Amino acid sequence: MTSLLTTSVSFVSNEHQPNVFARVGVVGAGQLARMMGQAARDAGVSVTVLATTREDSAVATSDGVVLGEATDTGALHELAGRVDVITFDHELVDLDVLEALEAEGVVLRPSSAALRFAVDKAFQRRTLFDAGVPVPRFLIVTSSHDENLEPFLSGLDAPPVVKASRGGYDGRGVAFPDSRASALRDVDAMAECGPVVVEERLDLVGEAAQLVVRSVAGDLSFYPVVTSVQHAGMCTDVRYPSDLDDATRAEAHELSGRVAQLVGGIGVLAIEYFVTAKGLLVNEVALRPHNTGHWTIEGTSTSQFAQHLRAVSGQSLGEVAPHYPFAVMVNVVGAEEPGSLEAAQRVAGTYVHDYGKSWRPGRKLGHVTALGDEPTGPRVRAWESARAFGTVTREA
Ligand code: ADP
Repeated sequence: MTSLLTTSVSFVSNEHQPNVFARVGVVGAGQLARMMGQAARDAGVSVTVLATTREDSAVATSDGVVLGEATDTGALHELAGRVDVITFDHELVDLDVLEALEAEGVVLRPSSAALRFAVDKAFQRRTLFDAGVPVPRFLIVTSSHDENLEPFLSGLDAPPVVKASRGGYDGRGVAFPDSRASALRDVDAMAECGPVVVEERLDLVGEAAQLVVRSVAGDLSFYPVVTSVQHAGMCTDVRYPSDLDDATRAEAHELSGRVAQLVGGIGVLAIEYFVTAKGLLVNEVALRPHNTGHWTIEGTSTSQFAQHLRAVSGQSLGEVAPHYPFAVMVNVVGAEEPGSLEAAQRVAGTYVHDYGKSWRPGRKLGHVTALGDEPTGPRVRAWESARAFGTVTREA
């Protein structure tokens, strides 16, 4: 693998010429790390993953593996000893452990300070709100007895959405109670693990997302805004271009830039938007490659995974021009019965990604992308292939 590398460990650092690193470590070995491994050659780096088992999705595509938990100091030290810079596949990390590593000189990108934004939803909401970024009306509580909760709930038109501050993803840690009583129960159940975000339930026109990538030198690269379709808290498909009008798209672009500057992390930042009749609100920000950017693997000149690796390894950013005017990405979420990867691959004009995970109903097992000069063909082909693969989801 070393012979494939186009960059090397070296150089005296100065502010104009950051170090360029060749060996990237990834905490976590899920599908995002797997796709980073696949993009490593394009980015001129090697990827070593911190995996919990040899069966983890990313083990098959990485150059090296350290076995251990993402929160385990010993395993993180072992990873740090084998790479030049560490990045992340998920946010289920321990910020204190990461801060201690940084104090020892380990380079984390994004840094533990920036990661706090992704790890802690309550902190994220408050920071965005304080900076004047539009977010849903919210309240942070630690129990249903919080004196501000009753007045907050009384001011809402509908039962709220209740979100765990830490540990949730793909709709886990998000509750949609149907009454005030069940909202209070949800608050107390989630409060066992930390602060809880209680927020207004919005009447959504749709959802959108944008990826911004920040380099060590501070350059920003913007991927186009996309529409993300959600069902039961999970993204079913992503469409480029987004169905936002030009003014709203420009508004998203402006907000994405503000959020990227506010967070300051290096690598991909994924900004998820709620689209409402009154305008855009920021739902959530992730500091890693994101499901709404999987279409960029075939859809743009530099994929989000290659761009993330370029950014965290200290390189300049690549071009992100789309190859086709339209792209559709459909997630494959395990149905009760497995489908057929081969049948999915036989659908013409599709790019099928199998995450190499064992079949389990409800589990994200892969995705399919299709590109084209008009919107309908890619949509029909991507869904046909995803259905053949065995997705439980259906086109909205
Ligand atoms: P996760 O971190 O698990 O992805 P999110 O906070 O993004 O959780 O919520 C998942 C989905 O739930 C959103 O994409 C959206 O479809 C729905 N949702 C979340 N919050 C709200 C809200 N305040 N109003 C309406 N729908 C919401």
